[in-house]
Amino acid sequence: MMINSVSAASTITTQPVSPKASEKRTTNPIETKAPALNNDNGALKSYFLGGISFKGQNCSTSNFAIKKIEDVPCCCCGDLMLRKEDIYKHEQHLLAHKGDELAKTIKEEEKYFRTAERTAAFMIADAVKGTDMTFADGVAASQKDLPQRFDKYCRGVLGETYMKSVEKAGYDAPISKFIQTTIKGIEDGDDFDRIAFTTMLQGMKGNLSAEEYGEIEDTAMNLPENRSAVMAIYKKYANAPEKFAHRLYSTAMTTAEHVHPHSLGGPNNTANYLAECAGCNNPRGNMSYAEWLKVHPEYPRMVQKHIEHVEGLIVDGKLPKNYDIYPSDIKKTLSKESNGVMELTVLSADKLRELRDAKKAGKEVDIHAETQAVIEQQEAEKAEKA
Ligand SMILES: [Zn+2]
Repeated sequence: MMINSVSAASTITTQPVSPKASEKRTTNPIETKAPALNNDNGALKSYFLGGISFKGQNCSTSNFAIKKIEDVPCCCCGDLMLRKEDIYKHEQHLLAHKGDELAKTIKEEEKYFRTAERTAAFMIADAVKGTDMTFADGVAASQKDLPQRFDKYCRGVLGETYMKSVEKAGYDAPISKFIQTTIKGIEDGDDFDRIAFTTMLQGMKGNLSAEEYGEIEDTAMNLPENRSAVMAIYKKYANAPEKFAHRLYSTAMTTAEHVHPHSLGGPNNTANYLAECAGCNNPRGNMSYAEWLKVHPEYPRMVQKHIEHVEGLIVDGKLPKNYDIYPSDIKKTLSKESNGVMELTVLSADKLRELRDAKKAGKEVDIHAETQAVIEQQEAEKAEKA
């Protein structure tokens, strides 16, 4: 989903463009394939932010203001993201520590690591604890017995997932028993595969509410996809500790995900963007949401969490006012692209404006409670119709 070709956003026709840009447009073969996505949506027109290169170079999503804000949860995995310009600072901070201090720093920075990176980081933390080892020493030490350390990490996370499951569903529930069997399998030398595991897990929800099941799944999503994903990081960077540290953070970088894939004609405008970490955006490519949801079953919950966070930024005045319409825009785009699987509950531009004014006047604003109120209102309307 990263941008790698020239844009074909047909919204360009509604914008004043330079002659060069119109030339580009008429010769661009992708334009004819541009989807209906951006035809009938007035909001999209007003929303175009000019992310087109007039020089025939890669298009830019740098105008997507959410990319400039640190600690926004990724729309897909829900982990916090870093601005590109902050990554170096974090990796240097990590490299500056040794032993227990390093282990502690890794724990504090956990929120920025994606699953394979988090696994590697925890294996390093485990190796340097109680020693005087540097980050480079920790990489070397953890690489030596990587399979055992990998299994240890997975068993640890699965143990937490099991405890969550027992708490929510009970000891005898099939879901709890299945997790226990998986742990036993790893002890007996089975290879672990997260996608297979979470797909099975989803089938065992039973009577659990979405929220209860979500807590179990969230814990499970700290697992790496498989051992190869972790080994690949070591293979590439074990002899270059600085690059290894960079890799741990680089997947947290905020990128603009094209909801309708760019290579399939998805336009370069904010109504087609979701802020997503590089770790989620890069592997997705042109995968449909149906396929992608197998890799990231938590997406529907996380994208809702993400959008509420963005609404909070709007209300706090941290995003420009033209973002007031963004939640409503992205709701439409996402619903269309996922064939109605992902239906966000969003606050209208008017509501956001009202809340921003309230906040300015010193009132407390609770975005999640406002969202719940929208859901209740929708349900009441539905009941009235029925
Ligand atoms: Zn992500």
